[in-house]
Amino acid sequence: MMVYSRQKIDDDDIQAVVEALKSDMLTCGNRVSEFESALCELTGAKFAVAMNSATSALHAGYIALGVNKNDEVITTPITFAATANAAIMCGANVKFADILPNGNIDPKSIKPLINDKTKVITAVDFGGYPADIDEIKNLTKNSQIKIIDDASHALGSSRDGKMVGNLADVSIFSFHAIKPITTFEGGALLTNDENIATSARLTRSHGIIKKQAWNMDMIKLGYNYRLSDVACALGFSQIKKLDKFINRRYEIAKIYDDAFKGSKYLKTIEIPSNIRSARHLYPVLLNSNLWCVKEDIYNELHARGIGVQVHYKPTYQFSFYKNLYGEIRLNGAEDFYRAELSLPCHQMMSDEDARLVISNLNEIMEKYRSRCAI
Ligand SMILES: *Cc1c(COP(=O)(O)O)cnc(C)c1O
Repeated sequence: MMVYSRQKIDDDDIQAVVEALKSDMLTCGNRVSEFESALCELTGAKFAVAMNSATSALHAGYIALGVNKNDEVITTPITFAATANAAIMCGANVKFADILPNGNIDPKSIKPLINDKTKVITAVDFGGYPADIDEIKNLTKNSQIKIIDDASHALGSSRDGKMVGNLADVSIFSFHAIKPITTFEGGALLTNDENIATSARLTRSHGIIKKQAWNMDMIKLGYNYRLSDVACALGFSQIKKLDKFINRRYEIAKIYDDAFKGSKYLKTIEIPSNIRSARHLYPVLLNSNLWCVKEDIYNELHARGIGVQVHYKPTYQFSFYKNLYGEIRLNGAEDFYRAELSLPCHQMMSDEDARLVISNLNEIMEKYRSRCAI
């Protein structure tokens, strides 16, 4: 099966992990800070706190920003469930804003949701396309509202030359196996605010600080959200190759862009020249006359060994959220969910693989085209 995204592990990655395994410290050693420094160097952020997942990092981020019971967090529904879930873990209420045609949160839809209870706005860089954090900042001028960038798709992305990871008050990355680089499972919180970094470090390790000798103190409630040295060794090895990975994904994306230019069946999402996307996903948006056969198209592609995926079912459609908030419908998110298919796009693909996806998808769309009564 050709998957929509996957890891690339080379011999030097394996070597780095083996070395870490042979060292005295499997966790809490200096490979953690070495990886964190590499994240700071890449993004220009002052502080990085590596954790065992982006979900943990999101939770630690909301805690660091003081999100509590009855506070409100505004976010997008076109994301992985964890973006909103981590706010719920803090007891907050989640307000969903609608999205733009590129899959990112729509600042115009955020505006009417802001009120005295709003504590945090969380944007997501869909597919690696950086959300317009400056425009969101304009909405929150003269307020205490903080901005989180869930950049789980976007390690290596930039906007006007400014790196993702250094745009919002808090930025979150994921190093899950299929994300831009991997530490098996893993994530990180990046910030320029020392207090936020200190809070995240406490949350990561039980809220415990060392005093003298055996004496320690637990000064707030924490968790075990630590990332091991073995995982950080892989991350440190992987991050050196990030640019190569992204360049290869751009090459695959270019083949798709060229092939689908002027397509009768679908639209692609254009990446303007001031944007560099990590290209975690290559989303296409089927024209509305194909929405009713999207499931058939998906199934037939899978039957032919092409593992397309759909990103995302809007978070508010999950039973858990329906039970909390009742029925919600946001037109932009609904249409995006009906239209979106993520095509295979990763650093292990050949040009030939990409052409195979194109010819199969075109053939299948042609086949099902007439089955939808408009
Ligand atoms: C993958 C992902 C997460 C969760 O990442 P984990 O590291 O698996 O916890 C959160 N948000 C988005 C947008 C993601 O894609």
